[in-house]
Amino acid sequence: MTQHAKAPSIPSSVEHGKGLGAISLSETKALRPADPIPTEAASLPRRKSLQSILRWGAKIVRIGGDAPVLVQSMTNTDTADVIATAIQVKELAGAGSEIVRLTVNSIEAAKAVPAIREQLDRMDIDVPLVGDFHYNGHKLLQDVPACAQALSKYRINPGNVGLGSKRDNHFASLIETALRWQKPVRIGVNWGSLDQSVLARLMDQNAKRSNPWGAAAVMREALVTSALESTEAAIRLGMDPAQICLSAKVSSVQDLIAVYRSLASRCDQSLHLGLTEAGMGSKGIVASSAAMAVLLQEGIGDTIRVSLTPEPGGDRRKEVIVAQELLQTMGLRAFTPMVVACPGCGRTTSTFFQELANDIQGWLRAQMPTWRATYPGVETLQIAVMGCVVNGPGESRHADVGISLPGSGEAPVAPVFVDGERRLTLKGDQIARDFQNIVEDYVKTRFGKIGESNKA
Ligand code: SF4
Repeated sequence: MTQHAKAPSIPSSVEHGKGLGAISLSETKALRPADPIPTEAASLPRRKSLQSILRWGAKIVRIGGDAPVLVQSMTNTDTADVIATAIQVKELAGAGSEIVRLTVNSIEAAKAVPAIREQLDRMDIDVPLVGDFHYNGHKLLQDVPACAQALSKYRINPGNVGLGSKRDNHFASLIETALRWQKPVRIGVNWGSLDQSVLARLMDQNAKRSNPWGAAAVMREALVTSALESTEAAIRLGMDPAQICLSAKVSSVQDLIAVYRSLASRCDQSLHLGLTEAGMGSKGIVASSAAMAVLLQEGIGDTIRVSLTPEPGGDRRKEVIVAQELLQTMGLRAFTPMVVACPGCGRTTSTFFQELANDIQGWLRAQMPTWRATYPGVETLQIAVMGCVVNGPGESRHADVGISLPGSGEAPVAPVFVDGERRLTLKGDQIARDFQNIVEDYVKTRFGKIGESNKA
């Protein structure tokens, strides 16, 4: 007699279709409604904010109001080392950083700031410098007026300006210096250096509530309160409300979103977004992008910094590129032509298309310092580099210029699409060079004309 295997028992959630969040069949949606509503892409309205102006010499950069969301970065050189810092600022500005912040933590650093500004002006590096001050900023700015003058903005952390009565005096001194030199400020609170007097006061108030808030909610409120009370204090001292930008940085994605939503609803100042201590590599990129994308989607944020921890010997410019790519992929700004590339799969037997996509992206980025001036609008260019016939022709047609490389088993030819039309087919050993030439010709023809008409 044959022994039949016993059927496995079915877990109850599957058996009854009533697992967490499961819906019953009677509640399911019609898959093909008679009159479907159009699927619209989300619009990206910006929160209205006051506009602050950063000046150096005769140049200006605007933050907030109708200005685009700006990318900023911070050096990690010793500010006292004028040459090393000026070189890094030049690199960051060359990569597209529109504001660069330097730590000003000592008398040597403060004295170096005017020399760094001078070096940058001599190299025609048009980027404003922001001084990051903690603990001794009031004194450094008083003792080195040339530093106060050379900087375009001061970052003040209310949690790090002093304790007790000294706190108010030091804060007032920083604001008075900003007023004397007509500089905007960023009041930047950070949960790692939160003003403990604000936190203690809010905890006391919370203890008296009939339904006390959780500790995390009190901490978030303390961050927002610290930023807003410092803003009120700066305005009382004579600061123009528009010349104050705010930030409230935390290292958790959900806390950051909550804190900035609260700030955005309670003030009109421009907001500097950034997740503090985001971390290294992909973790830092993902965490920063996840938090800031939600806020940017809601129109919150006038300038962003992606605080990546560089790998040892890593390139500081990475934080600028990530910030640009975040804004560009969200459709908020365009900085560099984008390359759409497929991820590759079992249909590709070589890494040729990945290398081509990588080389083209690097080449496009390298051209931008000259292309930006010569070919206005080139930053909106879309290139596709695809690995096989499955999605290759379709994706290439959607791009301005696209190439569909042969997958395994396909004829060794690569059709090239220009403005949605199949124009020619590349083959042989020079596909990469030929494709680059096609892109270059396209840029000259399409965007050179715009440059010429702008001059006319
Ligand atoms: S386009 Fe082709 S090679 Fe690229 S992921 Fe799709 S199927 Fe794979």
